[in-house]
Amino acid sequence: MGERMKAYIEEAEAALLHTYNRYQIVLDRGDGVYLYDIEGKKYLDFVAGIAVFALGYNNSEYNDALKGQIDKLLHTSNYYYNVPAIEAAKKLKAASGMDRVFFTNSGAEAMEGAIKAARKYAYLKDGAKDHEIIAMEHSFHGRTMGALSVTGNPKYREPFEPMIGNIRFARLNDFDSVLSQVTDRTCAVILEPVQGEGGLIPAREDFLRKVRALCDERDILLIFDEVQCGMGRTGYLFAWQRYGVKPDIMTAAKALGCGVPLGAFLMTERVGQHSLTAGDHGTTYGGNPLAGAAADKVLELFEKRHILEHVREVAPYLEMRLDELAARHDSIVERRGLGLMQGLVFDRPVSDLIERALNKGLILINAGAEIIRFVPPLIIEKEHIDEMIGILEECL
Ligand SMILES: *Cc1c(COP(=O)(O)O)cnc(C)c1O
Repeated sequence: MGERMKAYIEEAEAALLHTYNRYQIVLDRGDGVYLYDIEGKKYLDFVAGIAVFALGYNNSEYNDALKGQIDKLLHTSNYYYNVPAIEAAKKLKAASGMDRVFFTNSGAEAMEGAIKAARKYAYLKDGAKDHEIIAMEHSFHGRTMGALSVTGNPKYREPFEPMIGNIRFARLNDFDSVLSQVTDRTCAVILEPVQGEGGLIPAREDFLRKVRALCDERDILLIFDEVQCGMGRTGYLFAWQRYGVKPDIMTAAKALGCGVPLGAFLMTERVGQHSLTAGDHGTTYGGNPLAGAAADKVLELFEKRHILEHVREVAPYLEMRLDELAARHDSIVERRGLGLMQGLVFDRPVSDLIERALNKGLILINAGAEIIRFVPPLIIEKEHIDEMIGILEECL
């Protein structure tokens, strides 16, 4: 590491709160699927800012759309309409199969809104204030208090208790565990169709179908957190479309803004008509003109560049190459995931391996101590997958 990078890292450690064990690089710019640090070293990026930069770095159409909007109007209050947010909402509504959109600034905030909508829906039915939510073990929904309350990782929750209360945990792909947590107070079931942080675990279709039927029967709202697995990652714009099991409320973020902080919670008309109304929820920045312009352009480019078709084409190749790698190395227990959201499960901690890869110019990230997560830009090509496998193989 050069002197300049070392100096920046020291300054960062002196000024920033120590909530991350950061990798020792200072990133400067990106181009396509490559990133460059401030000393000019090039990295192949299989993280995409954690499933954010779907379109790749320095996409000129996307950048131009943002620059144009900056020169026009960056922000205005949600008490007024703005064209970029209207265009984005229209596109998102059509593409997601949902009917109503509320823009937020992040995934966690989208989850907060989803939880509030579900509680309000139940409150309007019976006026009770003790409704319960069923969430999944090993889930991840964000770090704010509501989102954290439904996050199935006790280590993340415990220091900050008490949580929002009346949350019960069940196990993904174990329908009986969900059924056993249902009471006459249950207002929502929250789950990720593909658990990300929790270890790249796809829901099984029969499990989702059974939960859907249960929710229909008991008028419980089904909430899908598509913050990580949505926006094309599974080869469908949203994972529910791949499964054919539609939620009542859905959240999105990460690749929705492709770098501009942006999230959304969406719902069906039925929930929209019977939950949050004027005065119930709000945000200063959420869905401002810059964020709207970002989402609008991202959704336009997904279509124009045939991103979903591309993911469906390259994802099986990534799976195949990872499977081959797993077969060659005893330390790899299994590969799992869906689309361009894959994990390699090792029999040992992966932090050393990730650091060796970084030194060789490959950016990877973990999901839990023993899993390497692969969430590259969705524009990744087979040659990049070959390059990644080559470096990873050397590191192994
Ligand atoms: C990242 C993530 C969140 C939280 O999003 P932030 O934008 O970091 O608040 C929520 N749910 C899932 C599934 C995520 O992967």
